[in-house]
Amino acid sequence: MSFVSTRDTSGAVGSGRVDLATALLAGLAPDGGLYLPEHVPPIDFAGLPPDDFPELATRILTPWLEEFMTLREVEALAADAFSFPVPLVRISDSVSILELFHGPTLSFKDFGGRTLGRLLGHLLQEKGEEVTIVVATSGDTGSAVADGCSGIPGVRVVLLYPAGQVSPTQEQQLIVEREGVTALRVHGSFDDCQRLVKGAFADSRLRHKRLSTANSINMGRLLPQMLYYVHAAKQYEAPVTFCVPSGNLGNLTAGMLAAESGMPVAGFLAAHNRNDFFPAWLSNAERAFNASVQTPSNAMDVGAPSNFERLTAMYAREELVSRVSGVSVTDKDTVSSIRCTLQETGYVADPHTAVGLEAVRRLQPEGQVVVLSTAHPAKFPETVEPAIGRKVTVPPQLTQLQQMPSSVQDMEADAGALADAILG
Ligand SMILES: *Cc1c(COP(=O)(O)O)cnc(C)c1O
Repeated sequence: MSFVSTRDTSGAVGSGRVDLATALLAGLAPDGGLYLPEHVPPIDFAGLPPDDFPELATRILTPWLEEFMTLREVEALAADAFSFPVPLVRISDSVSILELFHGPTLSFKDFGGRTLGRLLGHLLQEKGEEVTIVVATSGDTGSAVADGCSGIPGVRVVLLYPAGQVSPTQEQQLIVEREGVTALRVHGSFDDCQRLVKGAFADSRLRHKRLSTANSINMGRLLPQMLYYVHAAKQYEAPVTFCVPSGNLGNLTAGMLAAESGMPVAGFLAAHNRNDFFPAWLSNAERAFNASVQTPSNAMDVGAPSNFERLTAMYAREELVSRVSGVSVTDKDTVSSIRCTLQETGYVADPHTAVGLEAVRRLQPEGQVVVLSTAHPAKFPETVEPAIGRKVTVPPQLTQLQQMPSSVQDMEADAGALADAILG
């Protein structure tokens, strides 16, 4: 398997070609682009097992990983990383919800976090080296990466989040004590956190450290996100439409990679909140990136989706327009979508999933629709409970947090303080 940067203009010569190990360890290409596979290995869709997720994962991931893992090792990774259920719940004649939130931190980001941690651990063990993942987070990524990498030899995590700007539940998930993880509560904004992370990569005091990042541009997060699309598609006779609540467009990109590999699909629906760059671009190519605005589906508050560069390197605009529809949903409609869904179907959706459900109500795609449910509603009680007029059921992953010790360091938004924390 070889990967090239989205900014590699050398064409067929492919001078910047790297293997997957390099793409995983670096995250971003040296020219600032995102890595893309030169070709996507085909899957034997009909021959895949319909109801054994780890087995399906092994079959799909093996061609990608076999350059540095044996079949046994891929099997062990799949059994260990995907040790939770991935149910498809039918809520109406034509709509089903694929619940991706049964992992330890209750969002679909557990798929990526757990896989990336294990892949990096495997690569570093071979090299006898250590990596520090520095990640700025305003929501689900930080806890999924911290949890997915904790206790893996050779992998340390330093996570930064803005003080007072994450929900109490999210904060509890971020600061629970984990082996090999340092949580930093930054007195500044999320943008300050991102700026500090970028700065760390250029900091001369940290030059001797191997640093990596874990946002949704890393191939190690995209690959496992292909799996659940195929797992869902296997449960239907005919191709379905996938509705994807989207922010940085990593999840959508993974679905399109799955389609490239041979999964039958009727179409994709990218459901966005008021941060509507992508749906607007699909109808008018002149649209520019925006500054992000805050909404109840905060994990999708992205003004400049990072994987847009990957999608436009993979497809011409007309191709994207023909395969993907886009919808933008207001805050008010997000909340009423939670309420309507409960009234009409008895299902309690989180605000991100509710954006997807509203997009489906609006576009009414033909045939069966699978809405990806990206987070558990108990992560967002401040939005969900007023909408449904009762308490949400709290899963054990969250109740257990209350009994666990936490640890966090307060930090000014200062590059020197971050370097101290990384070196410490
Ligand atoms: C990250 C996230 C999204 C957006 O996913 P992208 O891959 O960035 O498009 C949607 N919902 C939830 C709950 C998330 O955590």
